[in-house]
Parts: sequence; structure tokens; C-alpha cells
Amino acid sequence: MKTIGIYICTGKYNIFWKDFFQSSEKYFLNLSEYEKHYFVFTDADKIEFENKKNVHKIYQKQLKWPYITLDRFSIFQKARQQLEEMDYIYFFNGNMLFVDKVGQELLPTASYPLVMVKHPGFFDKERSTYTYETDPKSLASIQIDEGISYFMGGLNGGMTQDYLSLIDTLEKNIKTDKKNNLMAIWHDESHLNRYAIDHQDKIKVLDPSYGYPEDWDLPFSPKIIIRNKNKYGGHDFLRKKNNWFARSIKRLIKW
Ligand code: UDP
Repeated sequence: MKTIGIYICTGKYNIFWKDFFQSSEKYFLNLSEYEKHYFVFTDADKIEFENKKNVHKIYQKQLKWPYITLDRFSIFQKARQQLEEMDYIYFFNGNMLFVDKVGQELLPTASYPLVMVKHPGFFDKERSTYTYETDPKSLASIQIDEGISYFMGGLNGGMTQDYLSLIDTLEKNIKTDKKNNLMAIWHDESHLNRYAIDHQDKIKVLDPSYGYPEDWDLPFSPKIIIRNKNKYGGHDFLRKKNNWFARSIKRLIKW
């Protein structure tokens, strides 16, 4: 049996890779029947642990925001052949970090072959507050009488064939939207939520323990946290091209 994480860290986001890898090795599925592989899409010349057998570095140039996140399903296709050899596929945002043991509860089952995590900002909110795409012209659009949960885009996964179907469909839908000059409000996350509604019987739903924003106070025990990007320069800074400040932060983290 094998399991897998796919992970994108272009530009300055590569400052998070080292800690992500170490935390996953320490806390995630440390059972003899599982083997973890990391597929790291990055433009960095070198990344920590790149010589390890289970770390697969795949070149991905830095794309302008939001294309690095919106186009993620096309990006995953670069590793298609290797992904097909896995039993499970998971996507993790760059700034996710394991802080407690995570075992088979993160894995899909035969009845629920896809895994999604309730968004920490919406798990206790009314349906009317969910930030779904509503433009009927977009393939991500969700109508007022649809949807019971709002899922985060930063962590999801599933059985290989089911997740590859998700990747194929969302890649196609996003390309079609682009051809029609449309961009869904929350990019890949909007398309993921549409897919979740269309496949709701297949989804294992996890609570925000698995996507717990650092420094928030939620009624869950944190197992995978979302690191606070403000501590690393903030969104706007991190999404820009590599510069001197980012390299300095990286050096500091190394120490
Ligand atoms: N990302 C990246 N480089 C960038 C911007 C984004 O690799 O310059 C990837 C990274 O995996 C990140 C994900 O895209 O976690 C989502 O971007 P971001 O965290 O900025 O968006 P948010 O999740 O906060 O909406």
C-alpha cells in the first residue's frame, strides 16, 4: 500500500516545505503498510530532502496569482504517470503543517472514496454565508438550493482513480471558464465545491481539525494547522516573485 501527498510551493512558498515534510514524516500515517511519497511542484533550484527516495521534485514555474492555485489541476497532470502508481492521492497547500498524529481517519473508504475538509471559516455558519460561485455562466456555479457544506481548497484527496477523475473534470471546467472569460470567485476552491455537490455521496467529510488556522480558537483539536502567512510577510508578499527578504526568512527558518 502506498499513500501520497502532492504539494505546490513555487516562489516564496518554498519556505514552508521543510517543516511540512518533517511534520508529515513525524505524524502522518506511520504504519508499516503505508509508504509516503511527496510530489513537490516548485521552481526552486534545490529543496530540502530532494535526495530522499520518496521526494519527487517536479519543475513548475511560478505563475502569477491566482493562476498558481487556479491551474493546480493542470499542474498535477505533469505527474500523472507517477500518480497512477499510488493508492491514494492528497493535495496539501504549502503552508499546512501536521501538529498531531494523523492516521487512517484521513483516508477514504470504498463507500466514500473522496476526502474533503470543512472550511474553518464556515463550519458553523448558515448556508447563506457560503462564498460559492453564483454566476450561472461559470461551471463552478452553485444555486441557492444546493450545497450543505463549504469545503476548503487547501486539503483534499481520495482513492487514486476517484481523485484523478476529479483532477480531469476540474481541469476541463476551469479551462472552459477561461475560454469564456470567467474566473470563479475563489478559484480552484469554487470548482472543488461544485464537484463536491455533484459527487456528494462519495465524500468523507472531515472537520476543521485537519485545516485548523494557527492562532484561531475553534472547538476542535488541531491535527493539521494552516500556518499564519502574516508571520512570513503575508499573502501579497508571499505571492510575489522571490526576493532578498524571502531568502533571508528562509535562512532564519533553517537556523
Ligand atoms: N502557491 C504557491 N506559490 C505562490 C502562491 C500560491 O506555490 O506564489 C500555492 C501554495 O501551495 C499555496 C496555494 O497555492 O498554499 C494557495 O495559495 P494561498 O495560500 O496564497 O491562498 P489561500 O489558501 O490563502 O487562499
